[in-house]
Amino acid sequence: MTDAARSVAEFDALIIGAGFSGLYQLYCLRERLGLSVQALEAGEGVGGTWYWNRYPGARCDSESHSYCYTFSRELLEEWQWTERYPGDAEIRRYLNHVADRFDLRRDIRFGTRVSSAHYDAAANRWRVTTEKGEQLTAQFLVTAVGCLSTANVPNIPGLETFAGRWYHTGQWPHEGVDFRGKRVGQIGTGSTGIQAAPVIAETAAHLTVFQRTANYSVPARNAPLTDEFQRWAKENFDEVRKVMHATTNGHPFYIDRRRVFDVTDEERQRIYEAAWEKGGLQFRATFHDLLLDKKSNDTAAEFIKNKIRQIVKDPATAAVLADIDHPYAAKRPPIDTDYFETFNRDNVSLVDVRRSPIEAITPEGIRTRDAEYPLDIIVFATGFDAMTGPLLRMDIRGRDGIPLAEVWRAGPRNYLGLQVAGFPNLFTVTGPGSPSVLCNMPVAIEQHVDWITDCIAHMRESGFNRVEADPKAVEGWMEEVQRAVDATLLPQAQHSWYLGANVPGKPRIFMPYAGGMARYRKICAEVAEKGYEGFAFGT
Ligand code: NAP
Repeated sequence: MTDAARSVAEFDALIIGAGFSGLYQLYCLRERLGLSVQALEAGEGVGGTWYWNRYPGARCDSESHSYCYTFSRELLEEWQWTERYPGDAEIRRYLNHVADRFDLRRDIRFGTRVSSAHYDAAANRWRVTTEKGEQLTAQFLVTAVGCLSTANVPNIPGLETFAGRWYHTGQWPHEGVDFRGKRVGQIGTGSTGIQAAPVIAETAAHLTVFQRTANYSVPARNAPLTDEFQRWAKENFDEVRKVMHATTNGHPFYIDRRRVFDVTDEERQRIYEAAWEKGGLQFRATFHDLLLDKKSNDTAAEFIKNKIRQIVKDPATAAVLADIDHPYAAKRPPIDTDYFETFNRDNVSLVDVRRSPIEAITPEGIRTRDAEYPLDIIVFATGFDAMTGPLLRMDIRGRDGIPLAEVWRAGPRNYLGLQVAGFPNLFTVTGPGSPSVLCNMPVAIEQHVDWITDCIAHMRESGFNRVEADPKAVEGWMEEVQRAVDATLLPQAQHSWYLGANVPGKPRIFMPYAGGMARYRKICAEVAEKGYEGFAFGT
């Protein structure tokens, strides 16, 4: 195909992104429905978030036997994870294996970033333009852009004057960064910063961690998987998947039904201690009401704060690390490998930028209100313009040329996190308004991709060419999203990225659906069973 011919290429469906969701969506539309499909991927390889996030210590917080596709028994049988939590390189190997095994690469255009996608109502097609100027059209457009893929580099005055090197963790150089002999400053103590700091500290001459909001963390207790566990996970996968589908967060363990004050103080302490020793996100599953009742939550919060005070030897540093202002797990709860222990190293120091904010970056380093810190390297572990960012950085326009940015000016509005009213045949995998980031991602992704594939299959069987969310259904769903989060403690973390609070000027709306994956799955299935209630079809 010549470049010119390629630039007007027509397909049944276009998919934006070739991470976990884009790969599976490509497989489903091509293999199950026989559509002509192209996936457009900005990176030079598959992997999505894992293509970009190669920072020191990058590792998934979901356990490896549950952080995978479940659609292919053969794939499950043949793939062997090596550690309790998969590292970034191992996940990339897995996704590359998937791309090869299902021969997906031939329908992926790498190095192709979408700049705009406009709906042409007369033709009932999406017209997509890439940054290279290619033009493609398709009846269906599926965004598989991930929730955390638009790096948020804070606008700190003077960054351009910095004489050293700086990096955002979500855009990490593939060749790595050599910290040996360097004075490193790390801004940010979210899940990423908590993973990165201990590894950076191992080689840096000195690491200064700039903490704005103190954070909880529970040990991950990562370890190589034993042969016995690997065998067990394969032999029992149907049961494991059943649990993943039946739980709130899509993990392979249930949230205990007991409530915090159902047990004695001693018993509760014993339960927390056991969960701390076991490690991982299961700590959050110790009691049913941890995210529902502030008093209950306080017991877990206090337990972790005490752990921080016990681990960190310098009482002043421990006090800053334990000065946490939000309920446990109201922000995404990190898990770590020796994070708090890292502050006992001679080459690591902590700066409280809540008390003494960063004022500027100078040629020499970072200047806070009270001091200047000379640095050779700055690491921004400052997160992402989450969920809406990756969609709004493209110029997406629906019916009558209305920009998505305008429809979402006051925050994202859609039906089931899947479709925006006025944007026919556009589907958003793990869009805002779906459980997405509150769930083990592959579970949320498979559910969305299967649902979208079934919906398109239904259209083809029924002779429909167009599907669009009904504005009334959007209204109702937005109320449900609000109701769900209001029943939890999640809104109490005022500076959470779930609320868009980390990006200046972003509307403060709780974006993911907090009603739980199991409930959400049931709602989506019922909608489909009722003839896709809330969606309007056209020929
Ligand atoms: P994040 O949770 O948004 O954390 C960003 C950190 O940077 C926060 O500590 C934030 O402080 C700080 N920050 C931002 N702007 C700042 C500024 N101008 N000055 C000082 N500090 C600033 O981002 P993340 O750690 O990259 O994690 C994002 C999400 O990615 C996670 O919640 C998780 O869902 C996912 N993730 C998953 C894994 C995994 O599975 N292993 C690993 C990493 C990330 P404030 O809190 O005060 O805003």
